[in-house]
Amino acid sequence: MYVIDKNGQIIFHPDSNRIGDIAKNNTGIEDIKKQKNGKMRLINSRGVDNLAGFAHIKTTDWIIVSQQPTLELLKQANSIIYKVSGGIFVFYLVIFYIVWKCSFYIASPLHELANMASSLDRAEVGVDIKNISPWYYEIVKFKFSLLQSLRKFSKKIDEMDYYVNTDPLTGLMNRRGMEFEIDKIISMKNNFSILLIDIDYFKKINDTYGHAQGDLVLKFLAEIMQKNFRTNDICCRYGGEEFIVIMPHSNKQEAYESAERFRKIVQETYIENIYSITISIGIASWTGNSNDISEIFKQADINLYQAKNNGRNRVIPTV
Ligand code: GH3
Ligand code: MG
Ligand code: MG
Repeated sequence: MYVIDKNGQIIFHPDSNRIGDIAKNNTGIEDIKKQKNGKMRLINSRGVDNLAGFAHIKTTDWIIVSQQPTLELLKQANSIIYKVSGGIFVFYLVIFYIVWKCSFYIASPLHELANMASSLDRAEVGVDIKNISPWYYEIVKFKFSLLQSLRKFSKKIDEMDYYVNTDPLTGLMNRRGMEFEIDKIISMKNNFSILLIDIDYFKKINDTYGHAQGDLVLKFLAEIMQKNFRTNDICCRYGGEEFIVIMPHSNKQEAYESAERFRKIVQETYIENIYSITISIGIASWTGNSNDISEIFKQADINLYQAKNNGRNRVIPTV
């Protein structure tokens, strides 16, 4: 920093030897004197590239010049740029980490719910959805709608299951439902007996009283069947005028006694217009010894055939 007067004489300089000299050998001094206020790049008296800023003091007609080597200034500026860039980088890194964590926190329940939405057929999905703790409005809504549609979905499936596995005339399980139940019992390695029930001379009932009356008899028999067997006995319409009762955990004796009791009840039950009907029953038991489930049906069929041959209205167990 130095000061020159209107004639270009140095009146202040950090190097006191230069005070009183006329400023020269400085490529900018003429322009500084002309412009009086401003900035420029110049080569100083030592031949060093400098950046200068200068200002005029009107009262004394002096000019204050502040000069610094360009290289040194650029070095300082570069170091500032590096420091600022480093700081900004770290700052953005921290911001990025916070944003990433926050978005993960926001998105994770959404992500879980979306995963569950794609596997609504899984049995435990309802419990999994309930276990997700929603902490903002949209997730609460999403969770609620998902649970609601799951409930509707399950209800529809239950309804469809019911229609697919139920005989529409009697409301008993049909053959398909029965096979499903038997598979369940076998998979649990439980013993069971089946009673194959056939109405005696049913064709005659149809022929005498009409098909509609025949249907009523089938419905009526289904009702007394459901009333008289235990709740875990499964009553099914096997087809036509044939019915099957599956008796889980029953031995031959229990199955025989139940069949005999039911046969008597049917025989003694009064049916409007028709008076009464009789049934024949073939029994077979599953003890898990055979691998072929059709064996038990064959055996029950043989026994039923035997009951018909022996005069009907009777129960034939497997000996
Ligand atoms: P059996 O004592 O030897 O069993 O003689 P059945 O007359 O009962 O046996 P058959 O197999 O000769 O006849 C069965 C009849 O059952 C024939 C068929 O028209 C009737 N049937 C089958 N399904 C239905 C039904 O859904 N409704 C009615 N009303 N009749 C049916
Ligand atoms: Mg028959
Ligand atoms: Mg019959």
